[in-house]
Amino acid sequence: MSSFVAAEKDHLVNPPAGVPTLIQHYIDGKHVDSLDGGKFALGDPVGNATYAQVAAGSAADVDRAVAAARRAFTEGPWARATAGERARVLTRLAELIEASADQLAGFETFDTGLPITQARGQAARAAENFRFFAGLIAGMHEDAFRTGDSQLGYVIRRPVGVAGLITPWNTPFMLESWKLAPALAAGCSVVLKPAEWTPLSASLLPSLMERAGVPDGVFNIVHGIGEVAGAALVAHPDVPLISFTGETTTGKIIMRSAADHLKGLSMELGGKSPVVVFADADLDAALDSALFGVFSLNGERCTAGSRILVEHTIYDRFVERFAERAARIRVGDPAQDATEIGALVHAEHYARVSEYVEIGIAEGARLVAGGGRPAGLGSGNFLAATVFADVTPAMRIFQEEIFGPVVCITPFADEAEAVRLANDTRYGLASYIWTTDLRRGHRVADAVSAGMVWLNSHNIRDLRTPFGGIKASGVGHEGGTHSIDFYTESKIVHVALGDVRVPRFGARPA
Ligand code: NAD
Repeated sequence: MSSFVAAEKDHLVNPPAGVPTLIQHYIDGKHVDSLDGGKFALGDPVGNATYAQVAAGSAADVDRAVAAARRAFTEGPWARATAGERARVLTRLAELIEASADQLAGFETFDTGLPITQARGQAARAAENFRFFAGLIAGMHEDAFRTGDSQLGYVIRRPVGVAGLITPWNTPFMLESWKLAPALAAGCSVVLKPAEWTPLSASLLPSLMERAGVPDGVFNIVHGIGEVAGAALVAHPDVPLISFTGETTTGKIIMRSAADHLKGLSMELGGKSPVVVFADADLDAALDSALFGVFSLNGERCTAGSRILVEHTIYDRFVERFAERAARIRVGDPAQDATEIGALVHAEHYARVSEYVEIGIAEGARLVAGGGRPAGLGSGNFLAATVFADVTPAMRIFQEEIFGPVVCITPFADEAEAVRLANDTRYGLASYIWTTDLRRGHRVADAVSAGMVWLNSHNIRDLRTPFGGIKASGVGHEGGTHSIDFYTESKIVHVALGDVRVPRFGARPA
């Protein structure tokens, strides 16, 4: 039985103070409608009712934004500013985000259905992203290479130009900051295309940017449908690089389109990450981490540990304890502090995740917790924490990213089978390993196909470390200097320090 946070229906559908009823593009320092007047309706995930209209960008709006960004890049002060000057602006931005954290978290929760305590955490992370990249850029230097006494080479690092940033609907503001911070720190101008289901928190960015001192034209937003506004940004010849976070299928479409202009690409895509629990693990810690890892952020988390692989000797007991805890997870009003799982982002996504629950049952997996709408929550996109045991690799719920509060548990016999199962998907984003045998821990960490491994450790990120996946989970890494490398291009200047000795072609007498 799930327990729920009681909530008045009126409270559930009331937008927080200050939520706009019209969200416009932000181009060259001005809030503007689409050139053709196009708009789309925006709903909340609890009431599933329209609360705002959003400008629906077309190729013409993208053109306008890219032109402004390009002008700011080639003529404005941002790309020419010292790293220290940019760092000061980004630090101010971090402080302004911290000062607006309550409003930001409230908007995010209302628009996405993320539990408010977790939205507050994401707002703090967004501020930290700007603060971190401010510090990083201020401390960065360019390399010099001396070749004996004969030659000196030095590197000039320049911002690439107008960066196209395309973001998904899970933790929207945090993910936008994860791209904006390094792009701006590097000196690029940007055009951000937020996800169409969750543009609300991004509507706070223009005022924050203006107050922090980001010059007009450096930061632009074009809202709209991915296949229209996003596609136009990817296809635009004056946008030399695209940083994309979203689904693997969308990533493939973007890579094809970007190939025409040989764009720089950073692709952060889907995941189906394993949690491998050996019998000798600290089971209490593994259990806490596995539960939080898949059910936090409503399970709408790219690094969710959505396949839990458990050594057969502890399997039954683990499944029982996991299911008991999952059944007690509080599902309800995202705006209440006690809520652990809120509402899934959109009715369409709710239907998709619910369909996976049906698929799991039809495939013969054993449903041990959840499986449907919690009692007492008759409307809204609410799904109880759902746990399937005895899941086999042939099942779709083992292979496909569900991106909701649904987890698979599978037994394994030994280390070799654990690694085989962990790697038996097309994805390779994160993995989590629990064992007190450190030699085995390091062996398995090396053997799993994933961009990121946490060994006896919860999903905690050090912003300096590379972030990204392999296989169908992505191409390229962001994080720390990896992000700055992406948004800058390095030029090497070679200088001779003495006489130049060159084979003298054509110097022999005829
Ligand atoms: P999505 O691919 O549907 O959309 C992401 C963004 O791309 C949106 O802004 C959308 O409008 C835009 N878009 C859609 N079609 C486009 C096109 N043809 N051209 C250009 N842009 C287009 O993804 P989503 O459903 O918003 O997000 C969920 C997915 O994101 C999951 O697969 C999740 O794993 C992934 N994700 C990955 C990471 C990571 O770091 N690896 C982080 C968060 C989310």
